[in-house]
Formats: sequence, C-alpha cells, structure tokens
Amino acid sequence: MTKTVNGNYIHCVNNAEFNGVLIVGVVHGDEPQGEYLIKQYLLKNKDSRIAFIPSLNPDGKQLGTRVNANGVDLNRNFPTKNWVLSDKNEFFGGEFPACETETQFLINIVEELRPKLILTLHAPFKVVNYDGDARFAAQMISDIIKYPVEESIGYETPGSFGTWAGLEKRIPTITLELDENISVEELENPVFEIFKKLENYDKIDFSALEINRN
Ligand SMILES: [Zn+2]
Repeated sequence: MTKTVNGNYIHCVNNAEFNGVLIVGVVHGDEPQGEYLIKQYLLKNKDSRIAFIPSLNPDGKQLGTRVNANGVDLNRNFPTKNWVLSDKNEFFGGEFPACETETQFLINIVEELRPKLILTLHAPFKVVNYDGDARFAAQMISDIIKYPVEESIGYETPGSFGTWAGLEKRIPTITLELDENISVEELENPVFEIFKKLENYDKIDFSALEINRN
C-alpha cells in the first residue's frame, strides 16, 4: 500500500494463488469505471486468482482530472527509452521518468508479481489496444465486448505504460478503452465475462487458438 500526495491509498488485491494476470483501474482520474467494476467483481468473486489495483490514481479521481495531484499524466510517466520532458498540459509526463508515487507503485507491483498479462481499464474509445505479444488475448476480449482490436502505436506515446510493460519489458499488455456513454452497471456483464475468462488465463492454450484461426 502506498500513500499519495493527497493522502489517499493505492493498493493491490491479490492472493497466493495468483494466476499471472494483473488488472489496473483508474490510471486516469477522469476514467473512474475501472474501480467500480473491479470492486463489484471482487465482492462476487472473493477467491479471484487475478491481482487487481482498483485505482492507481485516487487523487485524480477525487479531483476529477486525467492527471494526478501533481498534474502528471501517469500514462506518460513510465521510464521508457523514449520518455521526454513535455509541455505542462494534461499529457505532462512529469519532471523525470517515474517521478510519481503512483508510477513507482505500479512498477514495483509488476516487478514483484511478474505478471504474464496486464490489462489496464480506460475510457472512452471503445477499443482493445495491445502492446507486445497480446494479440490473441486482445482478440478474446474483443470477442466478448465487441470493440475492435488495435495494435498500439506504442512509440508515439512516450512514457506510456503499454510501451514500458508491453514493448520494453515484453509483458503482453492490453489497454481496454471502455464506453463512457453507458452506465457502469451496463458494463458489468461484458467486463465480468472478460475477468472470468482471465481467471483461467494460465490454462488457455494460445497456440491451439492460433491454429484454429489460420
Ligand atoms: Zn485513459
């Protein structure tokens, strides 16, 4: 657990049966859907083998801003090779790579848990974006939620989590952009179905899936 600038706490929920999947909500404070969905899912699935960070950016959520309390876009603050000092707008990547507590927290969790797949929950673009070797997992998610799959443009977003985790650390990473024009309650069905599928991620034979698709 880590304390933020504004005194909120960031935590990761996981148990000893960890199945290799890490799901992260509220990277951007004005995209609150992930926290609600994760909390509701955990209420109904107390034995989940997935690791969850319900809200990475509680200060931003409290303030209703994309950025955190320091005005930093966490999704531009990761220590990628292409990190740059950018203008101080809502995409500001911080004074230096990983300068933010929230960024450091997620880096530490990834290095500690060594996940095999990471899913971050965003809004509002209705797309399943992926970085690294996550095409089939992205397709599986797309089949459920009916948003198109798009391979990430990666290096056009310096300091992004997808570039850091997916391309540089080679952990398959998916950015699920949810629909913000429907209620979070309406998102429960498809998102819970995705989480349920990911409960057995360590048992899915993706090589067989690839053969079937060819
Ligand atoms: Zn976002």
